Amino acid sequence: MIPKTIQSALERQDLSALYEIRELVERLISERARVDDLPANREVLKVHTSGSTTYRLERVSCGKNCKGCPHGPYWYGYWREGGKTRSKYIGKNLMSTETKKGVVE
Ligand SMILES: [Zn+2]
Repeated sequence: MIPKTIQSALERQDLSALYEIRELVERLISERARVDDLPANREVLKVHTSGSTTYRLERVSCGKNCKGCPHGPYWYGYWREGGKTRSKYIGKNLMSTETKKGVVE
């Protein structure tokens, strides 16, 4: 549901403003989608993008009275597949061969 105040404000805009607003909305959607992919118990220390895969160096808190928390940091690879975000545990070091391939199997 679009709030009434936003809708009536949008209806008053001219075409060029509407195009700019559409770009803004698309950017906000993609940023929000990226944040939602990230579980709350992970702290991202580094990000490396290669091809369609994003590698993140993360510190993970499992949060169940664990004495080893937080764990890592470890590298994880993330990519989109069939509309879903897939991930793969890489380890303590991000190998250069891993990033050259672009896609993690
Ligand atoms: Zn733990």
